[in-house]
Amino acid sequence: MDVQPTGMLLVISGPSGVGKGTLVQWLMAQDDSIVFSVSATTRAPREGEIDHQHYHFMTEADYARLVRENAFLEHAEVHGHHYGTLVSEVADRRAAGQNVLLDIDTQGALQVMQKAPDAVSVFILPPSFEELERRLRGRQTESEADIRRRLANARQEVLLLPRYAYALVNDDLDRACATLKCIVDAEKQRTTRFHPQL
Ligand code: 5GP
Repeated sequence: MDVQPTGMLLVISGPSGVGKGTLVQWLMAQDDSIVFSVSATTRAPREGEIDHQHYHFMTEADYARLVRENAFLEHAEVHGHHYGTLVSEVADRRAAGQNVLLDIDTQGALQVMQKAPDAVSVFILPPSFEELERRLRGRQTESEADIRRRLANARQEVLLLPRYAYALVNDDLDRACATLKCIVDAEKQRTTRFHPQL
């Protein structure tokens, strides 16, 4: 039957250091129906990060202009920097049937859930806060002050778990990947995405 399903808006959140990036990369590598929404941010690029691929890196002035122009689906201050999802990364792609993945914090996710109640939300949990701290320190990309701030934020973020549709504990990467794929595959089949020509 000639059907063109509407693309899904997949919102993935979880504390810094939980392994969200790895899960997201894995999912996108094995499912080419999913496109990544490249966020705007005022934080400086980390080593190896490429402008317009990992983020649209920009100045505070450019970011403020985009806020004024209503260019963001959601935006928030996270760990002392500004981040936002551009409407231009999402709307047309969904209409064209692509599944758009947002890797965003809890503040942004709540804004998206309000504007797009059909968004599929997944919260990635660490096995424990001790393990989260170990992983954050292990990656050696943040200063001590930054690590402390991210750990304090993690507890606040986990409080918002009940607002998400799915919880995923990243205690074993292979299992977490497989479970994430199950969630996405099932969500693709929601009847509300299908509009058969009768
Ligand atoms: P990082 O600086 O480590 O790349 O990201 C820090 C946090 O900002 C992560 O939790 C990430 O999910 C979140 N983030 C990235 N892009 C966006 C965005 O566009 N909007 C919001 N609200 N959060 C974002």
